[in-house]
Amino acid sequence: MNAYSPIPEGKPPCWHALPAEDALVALAVDEGRGLSTAELAERVALYGVNRLAETRPRSAWLRLALQFHNPLIYVLLVAGAMTFALDDYIDAGVILGVVLINAAIGFVQEGKAEKALEAVRAMLASHATVLRDGERHEIDAAELVPGDVVLLESGARVPADLRLIRVKNLRVSEAALTGESVPVDKSTEAVDVAAAIGDRACMAYSGTVVSCGQARGVVVATGRATEIGRIGTLVGEVQTLATPLTRRLDQFARQITAFILSVCVLTFAYGYWLREMPMLDIFLAMVGLAVSAIPEGLPAIVTIVLAIGTRVMARNRAIIRRLPAVETLGSVSVICTDKTGTLTRNEMTAVRVMLPGQTLSVSGAGYTPEGGFTCDAGAVDSADNAALQALADAALLCNDAQLKHGPDGEWQLVGDPTEGALLTLALKAGLDAEALHAASPRVDVIPFESENRFMATLHHDHAGHAYALLKGAPERVLALCVGSADGEGFDAADWQARVDAAANEGQRVLALARCDLPAGTAALSMDDITARFSLLGLIGLIDPPRESAVEAVAECQRAGLRVKMITGDHAVTAAAIGRQLGLAGGASLTGDAIEALDDAALRERVQDTDVFARASPEHKLRLIAALQAEGALVAMTGDGVNDAPALKAADIGVAMGNKGTDAAREAADLVLTDDNFATIARAVREGRVVFDNIKKSLLFILPTNGGEAGVILLAVFGGLALPVTAGQILWVNLVTTITLALALAFEPGEAGVMQRPPRPPGEPLITRLLAGRIAYVTVLMMAATFAVFEWVLTRGAGLDAARTAAVNMLVVGELVYLFNVRHFTASAFSREILTGNPVAVWMSALLIGFQLVFTYTPPMQQIFHSVALDAATWGVILALGAAKFLAVEAEKAVLRRLNIRSM
Ligand code: ADP
Ligand code: MG
Repeated sequence: MNAYSPIPEGKPPCWHALPAEDALVALAVDEGRGLSTAELAERVALYGVNRLAETRPRSAWLRLALQFHNPLIYVLLVAGAMTFALDDYIDAGVILGVVLINAAIGFVQEGKAEKALEAVRAMLASHATVLRDGERHEIDAAELVPGDVVLLESGARVPADLRLIRVKNLRVSEAALTGESVPVDKSTEAVDVAAAIGDRACMAYSGTVVSCGQARGVVVATGRATEIGRIGTLVGEVQTLATPLTRRLDQFARQITAFILSVCVLTFAYGYWLREMPMLDIFLAMVGLAVSAIPEGLPAIVTIVLAIGTRVMARNRAIIRRLPAVETLGSVSVICTDKTGTLTRNEMTAVRVMLPGQTLSVSGAGYTPEGGFTCDAGAVDSADNAALQALADAALLCNDAQLKHGPDGEWQLVGDPTEGALLTLALKAGLDAEALHAASPRVDVIPFESENRFMATLHHDHAGHAYALLKGAPERVLALCVGSADGEGFDAADWQARVDAAANEGQRVLALARCDLPAGTAALSMDDITARFSLLGLIGLIDPPRESAVEAVAECQRAGLRVKMITGDHAVTAAAIGRQLGLAGGASLTGDAIEALDDAALRERVQDTDVFARASPEHKLRLIAALQAEGALVAMTGDGVNDAPALKAADIGVAMGNKGTDAAREAADLVLTDDNFATIARAVREGRVVFDNIKKSLLFILPTNGGEAGVILLAVFGGLALPVTAGQILWVNLVTTITLALALAFEPGEAGVMQRPPRPPGEPLITRLLAGRIAYVTVLMMAATFAVFEWVLTRGAGLDAARTAAVNMLVVGELVYLFNVRHFTASAFSREILTGNPVAVWMSALLIGFQLVFTYTPPMQQIFHSVALDAATWGVILALGAAKFLAVEAEKAVLRRLNIRSM
């Protein structure tokens, strides 16, 4: 091998004009072996990692500056400037302090949320299959270097720029690069030097997606040297922190702000002209009113709740690709799920072999090739059984799976579990895989695709014979058979009965057939698959349901979710597995039946059918449309490239992280890293918790703000002394925002989250119940504050003492209310109320510390005119706090009586 000369800087060869062999020579790599470990190290040093420049995160300064871009801050800044102009330096200083602290908090919180999303993004790194040291490896796409030999299959995202060296029916969707949405055919022939990117058929460019077929290519450019890297676009969506919900809340906050500002102007006019209050006093009161009433922290808190939810889900193996999905998940009403691998374990084991005139049972477990065959409890000598040998031959040859010894000596499967089970079966029958592959080399293959439901291979033996092997779903294969391998008659009805018997026990049945072809046949195409095969036999495989899936299905059903299973498997097999999983009975619907129904009829049938068999990706699309037309919010799982449209059409597209293709992952909202149905159920639960916590945040912030604002409004319009000064209101607002309001983001789910029906998708954020509670608590807050204020005044303790007491009353009122709000209607009288959310307890302790500092330290007393309070005043404050707590608990008890569990 000639020494490797690096690709010249600046002016790389025109790979598309170079014949494939020359490209391999130029890159100094052997197509069949790939790079060696030693070569790899050299090239990594030379070319670096295969990664596009990350979009530079917004600079910290910009993020900090953006914190000031907020209507409330504008109001405050104007107020600060005017206060300063009116020579009230202390209040101007307080306002400025509040502005700065507010910005700092927003900055830190947003940084945390971004980081949580960043971590999730990193988990979605893409993978590549390469040939190195003569072996296939699954590696992180970032580790590719020029010269690597990459294997592509349908659904894969091309991980680097490749010069194709072998293709099989390869079509690639280059929309990411050229904008062209129709997939283009690829070949290996060099094209003209001047060809445009879209015409370079022998190249597969980084970022494009294989829509069908298979290929092998050699990496010619990585990272920023790729075409897509040169354009400078980043592949895949970049998560942002904005979601429909945060935008709606933003808008809501803006509307409230506008409303409050107009109330302020009116109140100012009233106070200044009608009540003839001093300019500075009424102005400061209005600043206090604006600041206390505007729920400025709300959008930030919602973002944090969403980010925390995303992190919890990621820890539970569900990765959110689009943040809005977190909100939607909570309202999902139907989950459509694949069977194999999601509801079942995808650990296939062949348990039954059906030969012409004989049915054998197979013993052994897993992929360990140890076990034997029995017929009516009598052992069968597999070497003696010609029919079994012929079937096993086909099972081994028409197969892409490999079994390897794992590190602990156990057998590990590389490839498709269905094929792994067949390989294990062939080994149990005593075949020697290596010898057989050598004796009957494979010349061509039609790979398995879910749409075809079969796979076929072409072999030559050394005596010059050519023959095709066919393996697939029995109804496909039986229809192509004209005889059976033993030369006796072929009774299709009899075979069908044997298929049904096995399927009825939940077995997946595969049929194997063989057909001799003219000597020298060199290629196999779909046209060769005609009715001329001889049936070798059937194999029944079991794939037991995952235990966690059985539980999760039951949990979903309790939570008012319909679970529907959509599988490519046989109707009878699917129905049997559906029964084991506890899916509602009723007849299953097959893909053919779906096609026979028009949209209206399908909408009707889809309601009470939970098992869909022999269904293909197009059927998934129609099912989603039918369910959505009935008002359902649908989550749909998928893994193949053809599932992408369905994943996009569903309200929540769920892709499989392990067996799923890149195409499916990129179309999905949610990616399961363990491919397990139970994970979807957990994600739905978390989605509900997130929504609850957003509601609870509203339920907390709105009435506490309302109470603070109401106190000021009532004083101005009632002609009373202000119970709290502007500076004091700023203080209350600040300390409660950094402590209490945040605590609800960490609230764990309520015990009953999965025992109530899903939230109707159109339901407004602030339901009537919510609005009622908000009004009630606002009134309670105001009443308690005024009561304390007036009580201290009548005792003759002076205005400053009365205001200090009122401030502490507001804070205590908010603090106890936080513990009311932790549950919508469930009672707060339990030990859980103190242990369930440690953040709430810590934040309360912090807040109490703040209040003691406010009340008792001289600097604070100077700034805020606060004074130390006596025990009697504290006694009244605490008693009123307790009374308020009980008043809310009483309202909750009434709602509980009415059987209301959420709001
Ligand atoms: P599922 O939805 O259960 O994953 P698939 O689409 O993978 O269904 O498979 C559909 C049918 O195709 C199976 O019931 C089986 O009969 C057949 N089949 C599955 N895998 C293979 C394979 N590797 N080779 C040939 N036929 C297969
Ligand atoms: Mg499958």
